[in-house]
Amino acid sequence: MNLKSNASPGKVYDVLIVGAGLVGLATAISLRKRGVNNILVIDKTHEFRQVGQTLDLLPNGLKAIKSIESLAYQKIKEISLNLLNSSIEKNLDDQHSKTDQKKSSLKKRYWSQKNLDGEIIRSIPLDFKTWFDQYGEGRVSIPWYQLQTTLRSFLPPELIKINYRCVNLEKKPDYIKRNCVSNTVSENNPFAHWEMQRFSLKNEDKTEENKSNLLENKAFKAKLVVAADGINSAIRQVIYEDTNLSQWSKPQYSGWTAIACRSLDNVPESITEELNTKYFQGQSIITVTNDKIKKNSTLDESPRVILTSFKPHHLGYLIHSPFSLASLSQKSANDLIQLMLQVLEKSAFPSVIQQLVSLSNPDNLVKRPYYIHPANISNYNHSIWSQGKVVLVGDAAHGMPPFMAQGANQGLEDAAVIAPLITNIIQNNRLDDQEFISKQWAKYETIRRPFMEKIQEATMENHYWSQQQWDDYSEMVYSRNLEQLANSL
Ligand SMILES: Cc1cc2nc3c(=O)[nH]c(=O)nc-3n(C[C@H](O)[C@H](O)[C@H](O)COP(=O)(O)OP(=O)(O)OC[C@H]3O[C@@H](n4cnc5c(N)ncnc54)[C@H](O)[C@@H]3O)c2cc1C
Repeated sequence: MNLKSNASPGKVYDVLIVGAGLVGLATAISLRKRGVNNILVIDKTHEFRQVGQTLDLLPNGLKAIKSIESLAYQKIKEISLNLLNSSIEKNLDDQHSKTDQKKSSLKKRYWSQKNLDGEIIRSIPLDFKTWFDQYGEGRVSIPWYQLQTTLRSFLPPELIKINYRCVNLEKKPDYIKRNCVSNTVSENNPFAHWEMQRFSLKNEDKTEENKSNLLENKAFKAKLVVAADGINSAIRQVIYEDTNLSQWSKPQYSGWTAIACRSLDNVPESITEELNTKYFQGQSIITVTNDKIKKNSTLDESPRVILTSFKPHHLGYLIHSPFSLASLSQKSANDLIQLMLQVLEKSAFPSVIQQLVSLSNPDNLVKRPYYIHPANISNYNHSIWSQGKVVLVGDAAHGMPPFMAQGANQGLEDAAVIAPLITNIIQNNRLDDQEFISKQWAKYETIRRPFMEKIQEATMENHYWSQQQWDDYSEMVYSRNLEQLANSL
């Protein structure tokens, strides 16, 4: 094969990081901070563009960033608090009121889960300070792209190469050769967190002929490979191939899908008023569930309806429901609206919520099935996050639905743990010592995998939790001292 590469063809990197998402970048920053400089980050994207939703970074994720690079932590906090303040100002402008009391009540916001009668089941504070006071670190919301851009700004641009999609790994005696293709036509990726399927978009012309005309082969050589290539990790597929993990190569459907219409126009005043009085009660985001439906009941198809009202007269919803993939396939937007109405009726959701959903504009409807790569697919004698010189981090290791807002937060914890272990390998000149390398991977998996099992379990089960279970979970996840954990390695 004719391998063309403009990336120093003979060069062998100590570490090649595949994926310039949050976790790949955080790992690179952490390695450089520790003096590991012979590294390269590659990503299949054609350009860094404004993709992805807004993410919540919770105390554990912020602690991880702080332990990796305190200046990045400061920057992220500054950006997200500025965004919050400008949205509060805008909200106040819309309401023509700027009293200090109103301002501070907007700052101290909550996201409540309510039952069908509008009674609060539990509430999560959304401001930085309440979390900080309780867990020693705050909580911020920041768009994925802004987080990625901020992390990128802490790395020299020449260290990140885009337009390289990793397709294969070749093991050579002294290094691993990473085969990549570039100039690929962008493909619809149902697993990527930024892809919501819009029904109004036309399919691009993506014939095989078109693709193959544009492909160029490239290869990179590295002693170690960190796979940070997301939930549909190409590297995981390569290392699981022909092993007893092969059935787990691709992410599994989690059983849950989100269907959303974020912007509903022309909602009649009577609906807005009923929703405001009974459910929103001054809040801008709430979740409504039927708390009479218990786990394993015959009515277990119980949707969770997130309602938003970020501006007056501007409503939206997002419904998480356990649809089967078969029930969603080949469905038009109008079919999905009917499907949601059936599910809401079956779970006894009040007519006002059904009426809201029936007002959805099919062109604004989006759907996203959620996938998971489970952390509990084998016992601890068998590594599922590494093979030879390759290690999986972030969503590649444990992608999951975002119900606990932990995907990125956990990935940042991975970065905080794996970087010192890789540094150990390099600074002790053990890049050719497989036994030593395997020991470092085993440490990483021993620290991170049991914890990820708990997080994934919480992600799938929290809907049925009592307040006590929530409090215990929060204490377990947010109060940990990550710096101590990293220093103990
Ligand atoms: C709707 C939604 C809301 C979410 N909200 C939250 C939240 O509030 N808080 C939270 O913590 N998490 C949240 N998450 C999860 C979070 O987005 C992910 O866990 C996080 O982005 C994972 O980071 P990553 O770097 O591991 O993978 P990704 O962010 O997926 O990055 C992977 C990178 O690898 C690149 N890549 C992929 N394949 C290849 C290849 N073959 N070759 C080269 N490059 C490749 C991609 O282009 C990408 O840049 C949410 C997810 C969704 C879907």
